Amino acid sequence: MPKIKNLIAELERNRISYREEQSLAQFTTLRVGGNARLLVTADDFNALELSVRLAVANQVPFRVIGCGSNLIISGRGFDGLIILNRSKSWEIIGETKVSKPKRITSRYNPIDEELRAGEADVSSLPKKIVRVDSGFSNSALIEEMFKQGLTGLEWFSGIPSTVGGAVYMNMHGAHAYFGHLVHRAQLTDGVTTKIVDNAYFQFAYDFSILQQTKEIVLWIELLLDAGNVEQAGQKAKEWRLLKSRQPRRSAGCIFKNLAPEIQKKYNLPTSSIGYLIDKVLNLRGYRIGGAFISEKHAAFIENDGTAKADDVYQLVELIKVKAHDALGLELETEVEFVGKF
Ligand SMILES: Cc1cc2nc3c(=O)[nH]c(=O)nc-3n(C[C@H](O)[C@H](O)[C@H](O)COP(=O)(O)OP(=O)(O)OC[C@H]3O[C@@H](n4cnc5c(N)ncnc54)[C@H](O)[C@@H]3O)c2cc1C
Repeated sequence: MPKIKNLIAELERNRISYREEQSLAQFTTLRVGGNARLLVTADDFNALELSVRLAVANQVPFRVIGCGSNLIISGRGFDGLIILNRSKSWEIIGETKVSKPKRITSRYNPIDEELRAGEADVSSLPKKIVRVDSGFSNSALIEEMFKQGLTGLEWFSGIPSTVGGAVYMNMHGAHAYFGHLVHRAQLTDGVTTKIVDNAYFQFAYDFSILQQTKEIVLWIELLLDAGNVEQAGQKAKEWRLLKSRQPRRSAGCIFKNLAPEIQKKYNLPTSSIGYLIDKVLNLRGYRIGGAFISEKHAAFIENDGTAKADDVYQLVELIKVKAHDALGLELETEVEFVGKF
């Protein structure tokens, strides 16, 4: 494939080391998937930007992977460039009186007032602006910020993720959305690099505009509070414990939760997709090959160590068909499929 050959030549010219036909399963939490035709690791945001630019210039399809915790990669792999984002610098760049953007509410996941009860009022606290590379792990960032006396990220404790993946997905922990903390970001589409503010992302439940534009986050600026670290640390510990009980060899929730009008229409006691799969469709524990619907949390599909990407795919399709046959429901996936299925 001449385009790949040209890209390889350019990677070499730019002294970017690459691997060919590298297995991708190890770079995802679900641990399934075939090979990447080419793989590079970006250790800082300049390398990330350059790798994207070279892929675009050579018309080679590319994909950035953070923690790989929301991805199902095809057994046939990915015929292009995978960029593993391991950029991880951060710095506090200043203090601001700018208040955080309005809280994100959504038809899928209304703010749970009960969960918010007891949450400290941080509106009057000074805010620090922290600039973070998009490949930094959120778990590591939470700890680093606590050391600096900064709070706000505790609700995302225990969720395997990088900052870039969290922006792309608008990751949520209880009632909190990652997008709510974003001040500005630098993005690239491989041709143009620009700085955007929070409104650009159109954050909503499981949504940011990046899912349509496919731009890549190089770094973001977060607005964090000079808050009560002890209290926030306790909250982070509780969430970490809760998340550690969820199946780790999975890709998290496979489907989005139900919209309230759907919940109401079918008279379901909750909008939880796990409830639907378990109690309405009776699929808890159902297995195809090495992939099975988790006994612990029916919204998750687990890999018993022998699963193939196709097993997972077939299980996802089966859930969709059953939901359609039983209730006429069209379920929307939260996870993303990469490559051909
Ligand atoms: C055990 C478990 C629990 C989970 N719990 C939650 C939860 O409570 N709440 C929740 O919201 N999610 C949860 N998830 C799902 C997942 O962790 C989040 O969606 C997370 O934000 C994904 O981040 P990532 O770095 O792993 O992204 P990846 O899975 O690597 O990538 C996801 C998408 O983001 C894109 N992307 C990655 N980096 C960038 C970048 N720099 N710029 C642009 N696009 C980028 C990728 O190309 C891909 O399209 C869970 C997953 C697991 C396995």
